[in-house]
Amino acid sequence: MSVPLRQQADIALYILRQKLAGNKRYPLVLMLEPLFRCNLACIGCGKIDYPAEILNQRLSVEDCLKAVDECGAPVVSIPGGEPLLHHEMPQIVEGIIARKKYVYLCTNALLLDKKMDQYTPSPYFAWSIHLDGGREDHDRAVNKEGVYDRAESAIRAALAKGFRVNINCTLFNTASPERMAEFFDHMMDIGVSAITLSPGYAYERAADQEHFLTRTATKNLFRSLFRLGRERVQQGKPKWRFSQSSLYMDYLAGNQTYRCTPWGNPTRNVFGWQRPCYLLGEEFVPTFKELMETTDWDRYGTGRYEKCANCMVHCGYEPSAAEDALHRPWKALGVRLRGPRTEGPFSPDLDLSQQRPAEYVFETRVRQALTQIENPKGPLGRT
Ligand code: SF4
Ligand code: SF4
Repeated sequence: MSVPLRQQADIALYILRQKLAGNKRYPLVLMLEPLFRCNLACIGCGKIDYPAEILNQRLSVEDCLKAVDECGAPVVSIPGGEPLLHHEMPQIVEGIIARKKYVYLCTNALLLDKKMDQYTPSPYFAWSIHLDGGREDHDRAVNKEGVYDRAESAIRAALAKGFRVNINCTLFNTASPERMAEFFDHMMDIGVSAITLSPGYAYERAADQEHFLTRTATKNLFRSLFRLGRERVQQGKPKWRFSQSSLYMDYLAGNQTYRCTPWGNPTRNVFGWQRPCYLLGEEFVPTFKELMETTDWDRYGTGRYEKCANCMVHCGYEPSAAEDALHRPWKALGVRLRGPRTEGPFSPDLDLSQQRPAEYVFETRVRQALTQIENPKGPLGRT
């Protein structure tokens, strides 16, 4: 089971409570980024291009748990940067689990062997290991040889200790469906619980701007992958377990038309609560309430904002698929049973002709953050 039944039931109950309370917008997954510092420099990463003063900032245990309480989402994903560089990460994870929230601790696994014993297996805890493919693809994506082998060895060690281990896999236009299929087979063979799959977001600060997928390329790539997955099952190989919903996978294959739901995965990092989403840091506010109540959500998403044009990433579109599944459970069940459609025309895409042009705010944000680091009164980076 890619997402354990207990977790699915707790999330369903949470959504039901939100609906009964009449909440139109509510978070599903808190993206908690306690630091931006990383021990790798992946070519598609848009999170690490900051001056040292910002990379040296950390959210404290207290900041992190306050964010978890403010937000109330049933799932907390901890990306970064590299979270295992944060010395208080075990206490942060412990505090979140004590609140009965499901934690995904994302890591590139370079420090996992050394730090694993600071954590305990729990139904509320899973490692989410960054692996963008097999040895050749991953080492190229992270721009360093030998990282794949260390990650696989750490995955095996974590599984042997009884941890739930997922992998998170970002795809670029260099991905070969056949190589990825072999990689997924291998991950299933070694016992990984689930794969979280996403097309790479075209971060404006990423070192490599050439290999991000366009919308059409994303849909074609995912159709090829799903076709190969089906063929493998027919050959008697294990079915790939994905952590995402059937309708989100169907969306990636070009069979659904969704608007983005950026509030579904709100992000708290060293600058504050990030507006509008995990991928775009256009503005920052000090409280979750302010984020939810003062963001003009209609300004963001594909068709509305140029920076969103090619985005099909799960942090924006998985909550849209979840909402669709809630209203049309039979449709979700159908896709779950037969898999995403891999032939025929794509669903109509959103019109991009009226999107507002991109605003480039990075330099301003960095300047403001540095000023606040020098004069640390008030929340970091408030704009
Ligand atoms: S993608 Fe992840 S592992 Fe790679 S540099 Fe960025 S934060 Fe680090
Ligand atoms: S489409 Fe949504 S998730 Fe993607 S960058 Fe835009 S606001 Fe963020």
